[in-house]
Amino acid sequence: MKDTRENLIEVQGLKQYFTKTSGLLGRNVQYIKAVDNVSFYIKKGETLGLVGESGCGKSTTGRSLIKLYEPTAGKILFNGEDITNYNSKQMLPFRKRMQMVFQDPYASLDSRMTINEIIGEAIVTHGIATGKEKDERIFELLDKVGLMRDHASRYPHEFSGGQRQRVGIARALAVNPEFIICDEPISALDVSIQAQVINMLEDLQNDMGLTYLFIAHDLSMVKHISNRIGVMYLGNLVEIGGSDEVNNHPAHPYTEALLSAVPLPDPRLARERKRIVLQGDVPSPLNPPSGCPFRTRCSKCMKVCSEVKPELKEITPGHQVACHLY
Ligand code: SF4
Repeated sequence: MKDTRENLIEVQGLKQYFTKTSGLLGRNVQYIKAVDNVSFYIKKGETLGLVGESGCGKSTTGRSLIKLYEPTAGKILFNGEDITNYNSKQMLPFRKRMQMVFQDPYASLDSRMTINEIIGEAIVTHGIATGKEKDERIFELLDKVGLMRDHASRYPHEFSGGQRQRVGIARALAVNPEFIICDEPISALDVSIQAQVINMLEDLQNDMGLTYLFIAHDLSMVKHISNRIGVMYLGNLVEIGGSDEVNNHPAHPYTEALLSAVPLPDPRLARERKRIVLQGDVPSPLNPPSGCPFRTRCSKCMKVCSEVKPELKEITPGHQVACHLY
C-alpha cells in the first residue's frame, strides 16, 4: 500500500567533503568525501534506518542533517523548508524541532551536572518552562523513559549505561521535537538492554508521533524498528527500500554480505546459510575507487564497474539500488 504521509525530511544530492592539507604551507589539499551525493526522504512518523560499516558516512549524514556541519553541496529540506544555508540564528527554531541521541551514553552527559540540570538546561534554553513547571516537566520525562523521579537529583556516574541512554533520550524529548536522529543509540549497551531501549523508542514514537533517523552499523539492529532501510558504503547510498523488502530481497552485493552476518535465531537455518565474508578493508574516502565504490570488494565485479559509477535505480516500487547488475 502506498504511504501517503508527507515528507518531514528531504535530502537532495547531499555532499559533505572535508579537506585535508599537507605539504609545505599546506598547499596540497585533498578532499575526504565523507558523504557523496546522497538523496533520500523520511516521511512524518516513520523510521528510516541507515546502516553500513564504520566510516561509511552514516553518522556524518545525520550530523549534516541537523546542521552540525555545513553541507558542501546539496539540499536539506525540513517540512518543505530549505534549511541548507540557514545560519545559526535562523536554525534556532529548528534546533527545537530536531534533536539527536548520541552513541556513547557515558560521554554525552556532563558528569558535573545532575539529571535535573541536564534535562532542565534544554527546557530553559528554549523558553519552554522555568521553576516548578520545569521540574514537573522533568518528572514527566523521567516517567516517559522509565526512570524514577528521585533520579533527578543524581549524577550520571550513578547510573548504568542503559539508564544513561534513557537520560539522553529524555533530554532529546525535553523540547518536544518532531525529528530525532538516533546515532547508534544502542551500540554501546549490553545486548540484554538493547531490546528494552528499542521498544521504548518505538513506544515514544507511537505516543508522540516522532520521526526517526536510526543509525546503526548492523542490519539486525535496525530491521525491527525501521519502516525503510538505507545502506551506505564509502559515503554513498547503495540501496534503499522497505525494511521487509531489503531484508528478504537484498539486491546490492554489499547488503547481501551485511545480511549474511546477521545472527539467525533458528540454528538449522543458521547452519544452512552461507556467510559472505568481505575481503579487504573499506578503501580510503581520500582516494575512493573509480566507478563503483564497492568494486574492490565485490565478488560480482564486471569491467563496467571500474568505468562507470552506478546510479540509484528503482528495481521494484520503492526499492532502489546502485549496481550495474540491475
Ligand atoms: Fe559489484 Fe559492480 Fe554492482 Fe558494484 S556495480 S556492486 S562492483 S556488481
